[in-house]
Amino acid sequence: MLEIIDLHKAYGHHEVLRGVSLAVRPGSIHGLVGANGAGKTTLINCLYGLESGFTGAVRVNEGPGLVREVTGLLPYEPYFYPRLTGREYVAFCLQARGRPVPDLRPWNELLELPLDQFATEYSAGMKKKLALLALLVQDFAYLILDEPFNGLDLEANLLLKEMLRRLRQRGTGILLTSHLLGTLTEVADEATVLVGGRVQRHYEAAAFGTLEADLLAALHGEKLGQLTALLTP
Ligand code: ATP
Repeated sequence: MLEIIDLHKAYGHHEVLRGVSLAVRPGSIHGLVGANGAGKTTLINCLYGLESGFTGAVRVNEGPGLVREVTGLLPYEPYFYPRLTGREYVAFCLQARGRPVPDLRPWNELLELPLDQFATEYSAGMKKKLALLALLVQDFAYLILDEPFNGLDLEANLLLKEMLRRLRQRGTGILLTSHLLGTLTEVADEATVLVGGRVQRHYEAAAFGTLEADLLAALHGEKLGQLTALLTP
């Protein structure tokens, strides 16, 4: 299990995370939901060791070692070095972890990327798929996916949802952020709602029916009255 316990992180006087705890279990998908600025990316960066200066604990209890050794991260905006082809990017990611580069063809039959073109020349959706490819070939125990559906076309979106379900069946634990609530609730087993750097509520899938209404009330409570005034039939 990947665990975050009582995580606090501030930038200067701005307290961005205020005691967040959550767990990602093997073979399950945990959705992380929150408004822009709620602290999702900061939480992911602390969990993955890309941020320091936080308090609380981040751990993986499969065994000793850093979260990063057993976890793959799909960042919100993957970075690609200039003049590196898609194929070279994947090789670079694997070599950085001292792993051999496998045959990319089986996965790329699904993702259909022009692996011999420069990655910087890919479209936004293709860049996301390339970063995913580099994770999929590594068979991580856990995946942290920051807005994986962002920029994907309908076909890739459907494919990714199916991939996530099958990864879960194989035992992968997945932490997933998405502003697309419908997509997230379709695949997730549980969800944590972050509001202002705190866990506002944790939902099991059975309670997802009220998630949208709860979020609307939590995030826009004061605006709903005005909306009613403006748009009363
Ligand atoms: P979004 O949905 O827009 O991606 P988020 O939930 O991922 O938002 P974060 O990116 O974690 O939110 O940002 C949380 C808060 O922390 C924001 O107010 C942001 O301005 C602030 N913040 C993030 N990174 C830094 C930084 N390096 N220095 C100062 N403030 C930061």
